[in-house]
Amino acid sequence: MSTAAPRTPFPAGTALGYPRIGRRRELKKALEAFWHGDIDRAELDRRAAELRRTTRERLAALGLGRTDSSIPESFSLYDQVLDAAVAVGVVPADEYFLAARGEGGRAPLEMTKWFDTNYHYLVPEIGPETRFTAVADQLVGAFEEAAADGFTTRPVLVGPVTFLALAKPSGAAPEGFRPLSRLADLIPVYAELLTRLASVGAEWVQLDEPALVSESLPDAPSAVRTAAATAYTALGRLETRPQLFVAAPYAALGDALGALASTPVEAIGLDLVRGSIPADLNNCTADALKTKTLVGGVIDGHNIWRGDLAAAFAKLQLLRDLSPHVSAATSTSLQHVPHDVADEPQLDARLSSWLAFADQKVEQVATLAKGLSRGADAIAGELREASLALADRLGAPGVRVPTVRERLAGLQPGDFERGDYDARVTAQAAATPLPALPTTTIGSFPQTAEIRRARAARVAGSLTPAQYDEAMKAEIARVIALQEELGLDVLVHGEPERNDMVQYFAEHLDGFAVTVNGWVQSYGSRCTRPSILWGDVSRPAPITVDWSSYAQSLTSKPVKGMLTGPVTILAWSFVRDDQPLGDTANQVALALRDEVADLEAAGIAVVQVDEPALRELLPLKKADQDAYLAWSVGSFKLATAGADVATQVHTHLCYSEFGVVIDAIRALDADVTSIEAARSRMEVVDDIARSGFDHGVGPGVWDIHSPRVPSQAELDELLARAVAAVPGSQLWVNPDCGLKTRGYDETIASLTNLVAAARKARELVS
Ligand code: GLN
Ligand code: ZN
Repeated sequence: MSTAAPRTPFPAGTALGYPRIGRRRELKKALEAFWHGDIDRAELDRRAAELRRTTRERLAALGLGRTDSSIPESFSLYDQVLDAAVAVGVVPADEYFLAARGEGGRAPLEMTKWFDTNYHYLVPEIGPETRFTAVADQLVGAFEEAAADGFTTRPVLVGPVTFLALAKPSGAAPEGFRPLSRLADLIPVYAELLTRLASVGAEWVQLDEPALVSESLPDAPSAVRTAAATAYTALGRLETRPQLFVAAPYAALGDALGALASTPVEAIGLDLVRGSIPADLNNCTADALKTKTLVGGVIDGHNIWRGDLAAAFAKLQLLRDLSPHVSAATSTSLQHVPHDVADEPQLDARLSSWLAFADQKVEQVATLAKGLSRGADAIAGELREASLALADRLGAPGVRVPTVRERLAGLQPGDFERGDYDARVTAQAAATPLPALPTTTIGSFPQTAEIRRARAARVAGSLTPAQYDEAMKAEIARVIALQEELGLDVLVHGEPERNDMVQYFAEHLDGFAVTVNGWVQSYGSRCTRPSILWGDVSRPAPITVDWSSYAQSLTSKPVKGMLTGPVTILAWSFVRDDQPLGDTANQVALALRDEVADLEAAGIAVVQVDEPALRELLPLKKADQDAYLAWSVGSFKLATAGADVATQVHTHLCYSEFGVVIDAIRALDADVTSIEAARSRMEVVDDIARSGFDHGVGPGVWDIHSPRVPSQAELDELLARAVAAVPGSQLWVNPDCGLKTRGYDETIASLTNLVAAARKARELVS
């Protein structure tokens, strides 16, 4: 910095980011209207500007300052990583949606989960030749737009280290190339972006660097740390720049704190929900931190509980031992939570009083900021009110249900084990004879407009429950008949009655509540509405048995009972934070265990328990991973181990990083595991073979994320690869995932080819 003059201090309270989708999903509607051609680009931009304006006004009304840089300029039309790719010239601005969604022969960028959240970002592709250039239009435009309305906001941008650490090598890159090796070329581009922002009056810029907290990225943590020291030393030396706030959400910074402290950045954001107050700092780091603003992420940006505000305030006080400059913030961007509890008037009032969505969390931050500047007495009332709500929550009926707790306390190791696999194979072959390379699907069939209409009509009351049941049964009968015609071996009922694979179970279990407007962006215009798991979980009545046994009554082929596993139910809900996740998972598991028993009693011989989120919840820190895998695998086994030896237990996982959790998948001890494999052209079968996995496995042969129908020749080739790597006696033939987003034409054509390819491949193994 060129001047030693005091500059605007970091605001006393802020949020790292705010939901972008809009409280009535205005962004989703605008994007989809634009993609359909119903509105033009100018109208899309007008609506996006309107959303940004509404957000700023809202944040100011909730207590953030209009001109002190406390309002984050965190809007994105589609994804913040894609925005960064445009800002550094890797994706041309006019190819923004092309890169996000693909078109014709042009494939979209790959999409993957953002740290341990259910948000998906687009993966930039970077090679040795990639040219970086600063394209500041979007950043500068949003800042100036705010300025015109009288705001001084804080531009937010994915930092250079995280940008490169999350990128993947471009197709042309040589073996072993890492995008992070391009840091030196990227730094001048970030420098130019910062200079531009300074020139239009930005006082503070937030650079998000969650890569600094992760130990689960391809680059070693030490390489990421070194990169951060290099990048921020260089950016800090710029002549003209805004003050820099480096935020590191999702876990503790650990050793990376020292790396950041050694640079000239003015503020460092710490996730004090996942991490704790840094201790045992060396003298050098401790001294350096005294000159920085420490932004304590004490309000959980990742869940919807009002939480313990007094404890949050106490953490900020402790942080003051490290630096006299302390501010209050959310631990992560609020993009992971819905807008406003006030939008859920149907929720039980008592439950509502325990909740804080984005707007309430901003108010909490504003309260803490007031406490920091005026002393604890100034917020005594708010702290008291929050602790009363917390005490009310912990003691409320349904939160701790004695019968649920007694059952959990009485569990024995044997309740988690199914017994010898070979004996199971023999019993299952006798009970359910199947050909070699049996064919099946993952569960859902296309969710047609007709099904959605019936569901809406039932909610609206224009269809009686009995009429709705009839409509669903008719759909099940169609799906069973179709599968018989196609010649599949293990059938499914098609899941027409499920709006969502988690919410459906949440609606039928005690301990859960569901929201009406609680949408959270999953990627682009896609949103999910996580359920709220607030109390002890139990199953008041069988959930899926009528549907599955109806389906089984229509055919002599086996029909799979379909359940969503405990880890996935937890991952895609907002979960109580007053007890270990593993305990909550076991409660869900016991409810599912009863469902498995009821399915068996109703004559269902094959049960599938889906766990597509097993990888998603894997902690970012290596030291936490074993404990996670122990409880997550344990809960799956608790859900399934009550099954008879003759009942075939399937599971399904869908992501292509099979290698990362292969040991855990083996430990699940399912009889058959289906897994996404088509997109990676069967690469996973090599991992399977290497790991010595010896149970049934169905590597997907049809990429159901695309409307393309795979030809039989293509399927033949994939199956030949699978047969070459894994013994034929283990192999199943199935698509990558459920078919709910596909249409019937593609489904019939693809499954016809799939069955034909399986029949042909049987000759290879017999
Ligand atoms: N059984 C579910 C379905 O077929 C599985 C979905 C998933 O893995 N995400 O839709
Ligand atoms: Zn799947």
